[in-house]
Amino acid sequence: MRTSSLALLPTLPLHTPHQAPETGAPHTARHSANRTLDRLVGKAVGLLAGMLVLLASTAQAAAPMAGTNPPGFYRIMLGGFEVTSLSDGTVPSFSLQQLLTNTSPAVVSKALEREFLSDPVEGSVNAFLINTGPRLVLVDAGAAGLFGPTLGRLLDNLRASGYRPEQVDDVIVTHMHPDHVGGLMASGRMAFPNAIVHADRREAAFWLSQANLDAAPAASKDFFRGAIDSVGPYEKAGRLKLFDDGAEIMPGIRVRSTPGHTEGHTFVVIESEGRKLMLWGDLVHAAPVQFPHPAVTIAFDADSRAAAAQRAKAFEEAAREGYLVGAAHISFPGLGRVRAEGAGYRWVPLQYGVLR
Ligand SMILES: [Zn+2]
Repeated sequence: MRTSSLALLPTLPLHTPHQAPETGAPHTARHSANRTLDRLVGKAVGLLAGMLVLLASTAQAAAPMAGTNPPGFYRIMLGGFEVTSLSDGTVPSFSLQQLLTNTSPAVVSKALEREFLSDPVEGSVNAFLINTGPRLVLVDAGAAGLFGPTLGRLLDNLRASGYRPEQVDDVIVTHMHPDHVGGLMASGRMAFPNAIVHADRREAAFWLSQANLDAAPAASKDFFRGAIDSVGPYEKAGRLKLFDDGAEIMPGIRVRSTPGHTEGHTFVVIESEGRKLMLWGDLVHAAPVQFPHPAVTIAFDADSRAAAAQRAKAFEEAAREGYLVGAAHISFPGLGRVRAEGAGYRWVPLQYGVLR
């Protein structure tokens, strides 16, 4: 609109009648008066143009609201590695009052209020893509369709971030819950057809067992089915590789066994040029509550006592060493550091930065 109002300018009467072609007559007082008049008219035209531009900008306030956010990815450099946090979406109504255990409603409410939140909260589901140079590695794969319509955005966000799923060489899963392995499949096919899937040996033995599925209570069967349906096709294609505690998956990427949340829950340690990123998987589900109170557990923990012990140990180490942390369920992009505070800890989100 601004362009069109400026385009009006050439059609305005810049040449007034007294500006008839010069006849060659000597300059007179009348000529001089005409020039003054010209300047005044020129100024008036300028003012008019300004008003038109102003009117045009006022009209722009009627633009419809865009109603979208940019694609869910955020990228940093970690030494020589490029790390991209990918959003799979959110769980819009995540009730901490219903799901947290080893706590009280008053403790949960107070911790949420301190962060200007109330129950239920909106829970992030994040995954991390690491380009080491030689290999493109995804850590966790999101839920795809297993957790409802507000999730399953990982593939779109991966593409928007500049990569294609076929380029992914390796997928390391921190554990086999549906919001971490569901995205291995897309429309009944392997979403990452050229990737090797890496998983903890005990985790695979537990979730991929038909006997465990048969013996599981009805409420848990979908968790087993989700793992079998998502990881099974990679296993059949010879693309599932199992690891044990401490294994180096490739130079700069190794795993640390942290059982508790599940049988074979795993941290993924990324290191390049003296910088370190610890990917926590599901160590934290409720940051506003569990940082100040690390002993608070969640109903999804297979062994809540062990899960709490892993959390206490991981928080202490992260606060002491000051390395960067990435987490699947801390508010997107889920990157930050940990500071000891009082009897507990505080999550310090990573400062926004332009990629260099
Ligand atoms: Zn999870």
